[in-house]
Amino acid sequence: MRIYKANILFTPSPEQFQVVEYGYIAVDADGIIEGVYATLPTRLQGEPLTDFGDSLLIPAMNDMHVHAPQYRNMGLAMDMELLPWLNTYTFPEEAKYSNTEYAERMYSRFVHDLWLHGTIRASVFATIHPAATQILAQLFTEAGLGALIGLVGMNRNCPDTLLNRTEEALRDTEDLCDSLQENKQVKAIVTPRFVPACTADMLQAFGELAQRCHLPVQSHLSENRSEIAWVRELEPESTCYGDAYNRYGLFGQTPTLMAHCCYTEGEELELMQRNHVMVVHCPTSNCNLGS
Ligand SMILES: [Zn+2]
Repeated sequence: MRIYKANILFTPSPEQFQVVEYGYIAVDADGIIEGVYATLPTRLQGEPLTDFGDSLLIPAMNDMHVHAPQYRNMGLAMDMELLPWLNTYTFPEEAKYSNTEYAERMYSRFVHDLWLHGTIRASVFATIHPAATQILAQLFTEAGLGALIGLVGMNRNCPDTLLNRTEEALRDTEDLCDSLQENKQVKAIVTPRFVPACTADMLQAFGELAQRCHLPVQSHLSENRSEIAWVRELEPESTCYGDAYNRYGLFGQTPTLMAHCCYTEGEELELMQRNHVMVVHCPTSNCNLGS
């Protein structure tokens, strides 16, 4: 057992926020927290203790939506909305991840900096490239961080360098899932990029895969007005953007994270509530892209 002493802030349950001034955290040999105490129990006295004095000790952070290959684009933006931003900055950068040396160099920095800033769990979009994505999974594992990692499915309205076919995307995600079977920290997540980048057959195949293999799902929803109008054109039979995922089993049929949801309302909001779809707000991104 190891004991850490400091001012401790934590939430033992979603409803409770606790502050323990000059308190103690006891951690067992597997790194599991055994207890948080205002005074150290007699049985733990004599265990090795690290005293952080007046510092704060807080739980680490979870990033519920992050694009690992976009790390290099941090600090750009504020000059374009979502759709031109994707074509100008996002896609050319993601295409570079066909090169595994580049992927290793950039993903190493990304994982290191997550760790440095106290983010120890993340739900991550990679790219369409299986070899680069395996490197990312390996880096997370070596760093001792946890992640859900998604190989991105995209088979329309994207540059040729970033298109994958439905069968290919399906097989690659299944392979990633199999390769992480024994890994306790890092797992695969089904990741259609967003409706405009995926045909009905890809969405359908991803929905079936998620349900067959009990995999979680992540994607984007109602981020920007032009995007929503485009989805309405592409999927005229869907009653709302969220319904375009729901029709294919990608909207809460397994645990689902939907990023942004800036303009979600009415029927879409009700559907999310009913299906327990989780909203992941990304205010910095929305501000930078004028969403
Ligand atoms: Zn995103």
